Amino acid sequence: MIEICALASGSNGNCYYIGNQHDAILIDAGISARLTLTRMASRGLAPEKLKAIFITHEHFDHARGARVLSKKLGIAVYYTRPTWNAIPSSDRPLLSQFFEPGDAISSGSFTVHAILKNHDAAQPCSFRVEHNGRQVGVFTDIGEPCDKIKTSLQQCHAVFLETNYDEKMLWEGSYPFPLKKRVASEVGHLSNVQALELVQQHAAPHLECIFLSHLSKENNTPEKALETFTPLQQRCRIKLTSRSEAGEVYLLK
Ligand SMILES: [Zn+2]
Ligand SMILES: [Zn+2]
Repeated sequence: MIEICALASGSNGNCYYIGNQHDAILIDAGISARLTLTRMASRGLAPEKLKAIFITHEHFDHARGARVLSKKLGIAVYYTRPTWNAIPSSDRPLLSQFFEPGDAISSGSFTVHAILKNHDAAQPCSFRVEHNGRQVGVFTDIGEPCDKIKTSLQQCHAVFLETNYDEKMLWEGSYPFPLKKRVASEVGHLSNVQALELVQQHAAPHLECIFLSHLSKENNTPEKALETFTPLQQRCRIKLTSRSEAGEVYLLK
């Protein structure tokens, strides 16, 4: 079995827990170490199980808590070299490890597949985490889905999938025009509709749960994201994530 939980998800911080009876890992550490541990405790998740932290890219909402959490727990943080180079030296953990896009990294009883993605960062990666033939994707901060992400989604049984913005809210909203263009660009973020189409066109029948993730505070609402996914309600479970508290712990059997 695999337990998954979004400890934080949104443009102000991202941290995703993936564990089993023995081991656990975090994908991203974009909230403080203290908040990460508080939120794990609120869902009964034991920090002693954590074996490693994997960072998708250097943006602060994904990487800012890594150094302190690594020191507190004595666990390694994995980066690509360009991502590590883009992080201020004062924020780099002593226990840093390196991988390359395309690598499959063993951590405890998990295999973590690193997949290069389209986003405006040094060398951004998505991750697909595998244990006993079950696969969980963490696919956020994607400007445009590439073939690698489509193939990877086909293998997933559960996925944290970015639904960053509602197109109407973005274009009619208060962001300056260059920022609107960046968000909607091929190296920005996925909209609700783009995420829906990605699942409709590429997910396999064995996909059982989608967590709508990394919602923009300004340009989306949980209701709009959920409503966009209505066509998939009969096919799999659709769940929300939150920026302000840990979400439910979902059990993938
Ligand atoms: Zn982000
Ligand atoms: Zn980002």
